[in-house]
Amino acid sequence: MKITNVRACQPVTETSPDDWRTSIGQILVAVDTDCGVTGYGVGGGGFAGIHVVQTVLRDVLLGRNPDQIEDLWSEMYDATLAFGQKGIVLMAMSGVDLALWDVRGRAEKQSITELLGGAKQTRLPTYITVWDNEALAKVADRPHRGFKLHLGEQAPQNESVDDFADRIAGELREARRLIGPERELMADAWMKWSRPASQAVIERIGDVNLSWLEEPLPLDDESGYEALVGLGTVPIAGGEHEYTSGAFRKLVDRRLHSVLQPDVNWVGGLTELIRIYELAAEHDDIRVCPHRGAEIWSLPAVAALDPDPLAESGRPWMTWVNGQPPIVDGWIEIPDGPGFGINVDEAALKTVTPPEFPWP
Ligand SMILES: [Mg+2]
Repeated sequence: MKITNVRACQPVTETSPDDWRTSIGQILVAVDTDCGVTGYGVGGGGFAGIHVVQTVLRDVLLGRNPDQIEDLWSEMYDATLAFGQKGIVLMAMSGVDLALWDVRGRAEKQSITELLGGAKQTRLPTYITVWDNEALAKVADRPHRGFKLHLGEQAPQNESVDDFADRIAGELREARRLIGPERELMADAWMKWSRPASQAVIERIGDVNLSWLEEPLPLDDESGYEALVGLGTVPIAGGEHEYTSGAFRKLVDRRLHSVLQPDVNWVGGLTELIRIYELAAEHDDIRVCPHRGAEIWSLPAVAALDPDPLAESGRPWMTWVNGQPPIVDGWIEIPDGPGFGINVDEAALKTVTPPEFPWP
């Protein structure tokens, strides 16, 4: 089997949030082969990502055996080393890697879950993310195993660290009251807090039983993360904005996080998500909980590799990927079709028109 073409586009996604995820949009990658199998994956990087796929990555892949995924991953990484390693290039590579895995599954007529050793259970518990307690009150009676309060828009304003920490601790106590004592509660600060603010919040929420505090600090504040993990009272989570398993190796070796949240569409694809699961398996006190893990691209790995699976609810953006299982009564079923078990109606795809950058 040989790769005959590598294609990429940015489909129109009307429910995209009005932020960087629209302008640096989710891209669809297709890998065609000479045996009639086409595999699909989703990556990121918008038009810059498409350019990377259709130039450097395509040059690596044309004429090659698509089943040599790990070798091809290394060659793509090496070919982009001078300008890649992170960010948009890895987002683009993620889409290619996922499409290669889809080719492997379709060619072998096996689901990705089967290729990874089979699901430990046929359906997985989920958690959902809400942006405030008003929204949480509306969904708190749904049978999810967990709920996450996204506090990214609640960065410290014109207030003291103590006032900020009192306010956030109050929000988290109210969230705990709304969902009751049994289910998991998490909080996400989306890199917006300072070290003193994070520490002050953590000191106030010993009674909240938070499963994790996610990305409290900017990613480059490594000593800050060390200090927060060192407090030992609330597990610190992060990783959705990290790229490659190598970056996660550093997070684990330096004990910067205890919950790893790779995003399979950005981190480097399924090849890297598998390596991150292997890395976490070396440590009893490290948990993996992939970013948007209930989306179809992470779900097989969560089902097959996770000792304590918890799938984060997906985002409603990729309406052009058909066959994704819905969350029903707080649970999501593992698909069993070949590859990722999805299909794309290429004839029906509408794609975003590239922007013009006129030279004045
Ligand atoms: Mg997050």
